[in-house]
Amino acid sequence: MKVIEYINRRNGTLVSFEILPPLKGKSIQSIYDTLDPLMEFKPPFINVTYHRAEYMYKRNSQGLFEKVVIRKRPGTVGICAAIVNRYKADAVPHIVCGGFTKEETEDAMIDLAFLGINNLLIVRGDPEKSEATFQPEPGGHQHAIDLVKQAVSMNKGVFLQEDLTDVMPTDFCIGVAGYPEKHYEAPNMQSDLQHLKEKVDAGGEYIITQMFFDNRKFFEFVRLCREAGITVPIIPGLKPITSRKQMNTLPRLFHVDIPHEFAAELERAKSDVEAKQIGIAWCIQQCKELVKSGVPLLHFYTMSHPGPVKEVVSHVF
Ligand code: FAD
Repeated sequence: MKVIEYINRRNGTLVSFEILPPLKGKSIQSIYDTLDPLMEFKPPFINVTYHRAEYMYKRNSQGLFEKVVIRKRPGTVGICAAIVNRYKADAVPHIVCGGFTKEETEDAMIDLAFLGINNLLIVRGDPEKSEATFQPEPGGHQHAIDLVKQAVSMNKGVFLQEDLTDVMPTDFCIGVAGYPEKHYEAPNMQSDLQHLKEKVDAGGEYIITQMFFDNRKFFEFVRLCREAGITVPIIPGLKPITSRKQMNTLPRLFHVDIPHEFAAELERAKSDVEAKQIGIAWCIQQCKELVKSGVPLLHFYTMSHPGPVKEVVSHVF
């Protein structure tokens, strides 16, 4: 079933989980180890992130440095198929612009359609580590909206090769990303919301947000979206903080704030075990308030650590 159908037919707030493919060479067991403890909460769908290839310099046999392409976390499509097979839940692969041509993306979406996977979360992807700003692959997309438009075209039976006949349209439900604290590249919130509206108008059926630790920012974001004419469901993205270090790494990596009161509590923690309990308690309070406000779904970034997420969800539902 499609994500939007789950949302429209729900009785109360739903829960979903997001996982990362394992590092290349690792077993799919790590995915099952993450998801097995969480399936008792009956998530209607599981999101699987997508990771572009990276360029690295490696010394070759002549001692010279050679530029090589490395994809650290392949396997999104295969993992989605394995999830559907093992858990009978829907899988939502993330599709990214970065590192892919339109043709490669089209082929990946054809594979997904053949597997009966009818949900996509479409994002641009971040700049490659060696680049200051995002550079699309030659023949790829600059912004998520362009990829949304490509998927919408396929839903209408229009593929890149225009002379195809008897084309079977795809039937993808498309989700897009939103940022309660503004996307870090956007000059201001107004501009970011304008682009978000364009992405939704192009075919985004719901929004999943970046993680946030201050519900007021989420509520204000929803208010601003509605004011800007964005009417689709907005799903809060959540992550329990599990160590003192994350107080600094999460703001750096995801461009989000840790509220003063929460940061002060974390600073007082005498160990990571204590910090984890503080992080879990904070997330539980966030979730309870969000559920009370009527959000359609709580989306958890598991980051391959099911324990804290399980503790949060079991206190909320
Ligand atoms: P866009 O919508 O393209 O926006 C990027 C920036 O460009 C914004 O500042 C926006 O305001 C601006 N903009 C948008 N459209 C235009 C336009 N037409 N003209 C000018 N400016 C414009 N990354 C991964 O690599 N893999 C994943 O699996 C993944 N999953 C994610 C899931 C969620 C729920 C979220 C919130 C993020 C995820 N990301 C993932 C990270 C994401 O790729 C980055 O945040 C990226 O920097 C922006 O992606 P976007 O889709 O929001 O981009």
